[in-house]
Amino acid sequence: GKEDVVIGISACLIGEKVRFDASNKPSNFCNKELGQHVTYKAYCPEVAVGMPIPRPTIRLIKDEQIIKVSRPDGSGDVTTAIKAYGKKIASISKNLSGYVFCAKSPTCGMERVKVYSPSGDPLQAQGIGVFSREIMKANPLLPCEENGRLNDPILKENFV
Ligand code: SF4
Repeated sequence: GKEDVVIGISACLIGEKVRFDASNKPSNFCNKELGQHVTYKAYCPEVAVGMPIPRPTIRLIKDEQIIKVSRPDGSGDVTTAIKAYGKKIASISKNLSGYVFCAKSPTCGMERVKVYSPSGDPLQAQGIGVFSREIMKANPLLPCEENGRLNDPILKENFV
């Protein structure tokens, strides 16, 4: 039954107003379709590490090969906090059947997250969120998808 399939999900995708601008990013597919078959365990890593709602935006910044996540001017570096939270959730994710990440987020994005130089130049769009990276690294066999990736029905196929 639905209770047996527990899927981790970025909290903003199921409607929690936890984004930087106090908005959400509800995924129709996750809420109306996949939600009929699975039970979600929702996490917002940015809020979990104590960032307020609303809050200044953060981005991936690559400096001397090190990728960190902070405000565009380099202040408010939350890399260590979000990594540690990712490790903690990864350790309790062994019981999850999968994870749906919010695309493009410097915290939750699975791939194609924009990376900037310290002076603000866009470098590439190949980054991985600081939180999602820890989840995927610790659980390489965990089925993971992003909202909207490859057309949403693939999510269902992968998890149910
Ligand atoms: Fe929170 Fe992740 Fe959604 Fe950003 S993408 S609001 S960190 S759950």
